[in-house]
Amino acid sequence: MWGIMKTEPIEIVFEHTLTVKPEHFSNPFKMNSWTIILFDRMITNETIRNPMLGFQVHSDYTAHGEHWASKSKHYTGEAIDFHFYQTLTNGNHETLPMLIQWAMAERYRWGGLGIYPHWNFPGLHIDTRNIAEDGPESRWYRDERGGYLAIEAYLIKIKAA
Ligand SMILES: [Zn+2]
Repeated sequence: MWGIMKTEPIEIVFEHTLTVKPEHFSNPFKMNSWTIILFDRMITNETIRNPMLGFQVHSDYTAHGEHWASKSKHYTGEAIDFHFYQTLTNGNHETLPMLIQWAMAERYRWGGLGIYPHWNFPGLHIDTRNIAEDGPESRWYRDERGGYLAIEAYLIKIKAA
């Protein structure tokens, strides 16, 4: 699987993913191949570390005209909103703490990463923006009022809490 190239057609990519399958997405075949390869690599690696790990995708490819910024990578199938959870011994799902989710995602080369502690299921936006075209890696935090802040603001907030 990890020899699959970034330019492989998405249908072929999904034939070789280890953990991530089309049914995890709303619009799987409109996703960018490299985004799916990296997402599958992350989910598979992290599940090896923690076999009770699970994930739920909230948003993937979205047609233009939705609620995101005009340059959103959701429009190009290069972004995924999701959260990590852990299955407890009683079978219930427990959303993992925001810092744990963030740390897990940072083991992989996401161009953009946003942390969203105020979603119903707190989680992450990750994307494979092209660093050459879209500028440097980007990291952000969305606060309880919907404001977008540098990710350091989240660390300051949790340190103060
Ligand atoms: Zn997103």
